[in-house]
Order: sequence, then C-alpha cells, then structure tokens
Amino acid sequence: MGAFSIRGQHGRFYITRDGDDVAGPYWSKDSADVAQDRLERKAKERERKCITCTEAFLSEGPHNRMCNGCRSRISDDGVAV
Ligand SMILES: [Zn+2]
Repeated sequence: MGAFSIRGQHGRFYITRDGDDVAGPYWSKDSADVAQDRLERKAKERERKCITCTEAFLSEGPHNRMCNGCRSRISDDGVAV
C-alpha cells in the first residue's frame, strides 16, 4: 500500500491511493489536505497485541505497545511491569 496523494480534476480534489480514489470530491485543496492528513494518521494505526496483557488493541504506532488499560494501571502504581 502506497501513500495517499491528491489529484485535482475539473476544479475538484480527490484523494487517491495506489491509483484508486479513496475520498472526495473536495471543493478546495485545503479540505483535501486536511482529509489526507487524517487518512495518513489513521493508516498508521493498527491492531497490536499489548506487551503486558497480550490483548489486541488499536495502536497509534510503533511507540505504542501497551493497551490503554495497562498504561493507566502502570501510571497508577508508578511501576512498569
Ligand atoms: Zn494490556
């Protein structure tokens, strides 16, 4: 899967990925830019297994390896398991 890009056609803007339109039309380049940003951020999120409880959760990226439950438990005790 490649990166998202924006193509303009007849004064409208579409977001494409691997040659397919994935969103649009947008009426301005600015709105298309904002939507592209959101899509890129969402594409980086993926399901990972929590390193602590091994439950699947939606990770924001490689730095994010612990589910919300474990993260809040750890900040409560102040001890990393
Ligand atoms: Zn966990």
